[in-house]
Amino acid sequence: MGGTFDPIHFGHLVSAEEAYFALGLSEVIFVPTGNPPHKRAKLVSSAEDRYTMTLLATLDNPHFKVSRLEIDRGGDSHTVDTLREMRHWYAPGSTELYFITGLDGVLDILSWKEPYEIVELCQIVAASRPGFNSSRIRDLPEPIQKAIIPLEIPLLAISSTEIRERVLDGKSTRYLLPWTVEHYIFKKSLYIRNGR
Ligand code: NAP
Repeated sequence: MGGTFDPIHFGHLVSAEEAYFALGLSEVIFVPTGNPPHKRAKLVSSAEDRYTMTLLATLDNPHFKVSRLEIDRGGDSHTVDTLREMRHWYAPGSTELYFITGLDGVLDILSWKEPYEIVELCQIVAASRPGFNSSRIRDLPEPIQKAIIPLEIPLLAISSTEIRERVLDGKSTRYLLPWTVEHYIFKKSLYIRNGR
């Protein structure tokens, strides 16, 4: 489960839970991005804050884990490198990998590092917001299209951007994300100090 998770919210958690049951997965490993190369122009909260929020949000689910792999690797975070590293965690042929993330990001996959290698290493579970036009998957090259499993998640109407804006505007974020994460955001004054 890859994402910047700035912050993690119920849309992410429901996507992971839905994928877990729909695909009969043995576990879901959340991998907060370390240094996302596609977000260089934007301010992103520190990797440690995003990791802690992800940990707080997933604590009560026994089949969710959180990995520091991208944070500790340093340098730019590329999905292909993460998948290659994960492949080594399991005996050859013993495990299938699924990369779960948001569909609107996946539609840009041709701009990612080694997109064709990514679909050799895993299948991609692409969570979409309700009403999102998933026919755009058909614009992608066939080998990539074939590796994508679309998953419509009504709760993905929640977005991290909206939560950050609500914090900045002093609006309530209750019921959009776990209370533990909400408290962490206020304790650390996230999204207020840097004006995002
Ligand atoms: P993003 O561009 O911030 O997000 C794209 C969309 O997907 C947003 O609407 C986002 O909603 C949603 N989304 C993100 N993660 C999700 C998840 N786990 N489940 C459901 N929806 C999700 O994307 P990002 O978070 O930075 O990156 C997503 C993943 O793609 C990460 O693992 C990242 O490393 C990978 N990626 C890799 C490359 C590369 O290899 N070069 C390039 C780009 C992305 P929210 O804003 O509400 O999260």
